[in-house]
Amino acid sequence: MAFILALDQGTTSSRAIVFDQTGSIRAMAQQEFEQIFPKPGWVEHDPREIWRTQLAVAREALRQADASASAIAGIGISNQRETTVIWDRATGEPIGNAIVWQDRRTADFCRELKEAGLADSIQRKSGLVADAYFSGSKIRWMLDNIEGARAKAGAGELAFGTIDSWLVWNLTGGKAHLTDVSNASRTLVFNIETLEWDEELLALLDLPAGLMPEVRGSSEVYGQTTPDCFGAGIPIAGIAGDQQAALFGQGCHQCGMAKNTYGTGCFMLMNTGSDRVRSSNELLTTVAWEVDGAVDYALEGSVFVGGAVVQWLRDQLGIIETAPEIEELARSVEDNGGVYFVPAFAGLGSPHWDPYARGTIVGLTRGSSAGHIARAALEGIAYQSMDLVKAMEMDAGISLSELRVDGGASLNGLVMQFQSDLLNVPVVRPRIAETTALGAAYLAGLAVGFWESREQIARQWQVDARFDPAGDPQTVKAQVTGWRKAVERSKDWEEKG
Ligand code: ADP
Repeated sequence: MAFILALDQGTTSSRAIVFDQTGSIRAMAQQEFEQIFPKPGWVEHDPREIWRTQLAVAREALRQADASASAIAGIGISNQRETTVIWDRATGEPIGNAIVWQDRRTADFCRELKEAGLADSIQRKSGLVADAYFSGSKIRWMLDNIEGARAKAGAGELAFGTIDSWLVWNLTGGKAHLTDVSNASRTLVFNIETLEWDEELLALLDLPAGLMPEVRGSSEVYGQTTPDCFGAGIPIAGIAGDQQAALFGQGCHQCGMAKNTYGTGCFMLMNTGSDRVRSSNELLTTVAWEVDGAVDYALEGSVFVGGAVVQWLRDQLGIIETAPEIEELARSVEDNGGVYFVPAFAGLGSPHWDPYARGTIVGLTRGSSAGHIARAALEGIAYQSMDLVKAMEMDAGISLSELRVDGGASLNGLVMQFQSDLLNVPVVRPRIAETTALGAAYLAGLAVGFWESREQIARQWQVDARFDPAGDPQTVKAQVTGWRKAVERSKDWEEKG
């Protein structure tokens, strides 16, 4: 057995990657699929198109690697999280489109939960905040709004799943209805202490238990693919939600290790080991994975506007033509010239939590140039990530010793160096940037003995670039003070109500 096949089912595309034993990429295929926006604030996918594109890219990747099913030791799945599918157990047909994690249609219901004083018990049990982002209220919406759904669900005729469950159901020809603990922990109805669906939370959302998939570990053999998929059966052996898979793929297996993904937004996860750290800063407590019967937890926080600020400079302001050009523009000035850019285009997330904050550029003088604004924008990405790290360190009582990074904007050396200066720890980018797919591959490979141990995997992790702290402490202190003042200016701007 030469390879592991990773299925990386993302929000805008389905991808498949073939990894060899050294963790190197042998083949990769990708297909985008339709984003459906039926109304403002609604986002849907067609589950059949997700399955079709995922199967097609998996076959294509095997073809490119010149690998038959018998060369594949196992399949690992990582997936866009929280996105909700319900299908008919008898026919395998979805009862409607998938409701995507970004969809806000259940925001009012979630606000009612908060107003009814339930936020605290929801957080205690699920580790999450009562928000439309998670699957629970989306399931409820489907049962209440799709004709006949609630009666069928009550009769046990329907199955709910996040995208991992949907893929496993199809890969096994309807034999397996299951999910892993990391995906279960994003539904709002999973108790992250007992690791079971929570009866009280299910009742709160009016969800019948018979709808829910069986919850399994993240690294074990769940079943075999049907021969129609790849010609012969391949064991499906690893599952994790995309961010947790990336944490695993980054080799952050020990308590206190953290990764930050600098994409459109930034996703930061810190491994807290067997501790379910409850956040006082509205960070999420989530299951990282279960491997060999042992569960690791993580604290999670996100920056809403990360690399997207670079897109804004390109598309709205037009001061650059491509994203990578921003680095040169920002380096055309010595420093930010006193300019701070808080990209609170959509409010501020953790640890500030102000939906009424708006984007703010302060400190402009007659001498401020496009270079200063570019530099301030890039620094803003690093400052926001610093705020998340500080909140995590405070919640967990852990101080970070290194930050592992990935995502499009992690290619920006200026941002990475500044991040290291701000945090005063090394910032390290791995050679394999596909950390999400790699994490899924590792989880599967461990289950089937393709890799022996986590230690072996951790040893494979290789550095592409390392940024060591080089900032003058006094200067950094003054810069952070400037940032804090700028954040205060951005807050409470939009009129409430
Ligand atoms: P996503 O998965 O969220 O689509 P990616 O990891 O593909 O994100 O990263 C894309 C983001 O990274 C975009 O917002 C883009 O503006 C930003 N980006 C890409 N290259 C650079 C760069 N060299 N410097 C700064 N930002 C960049």
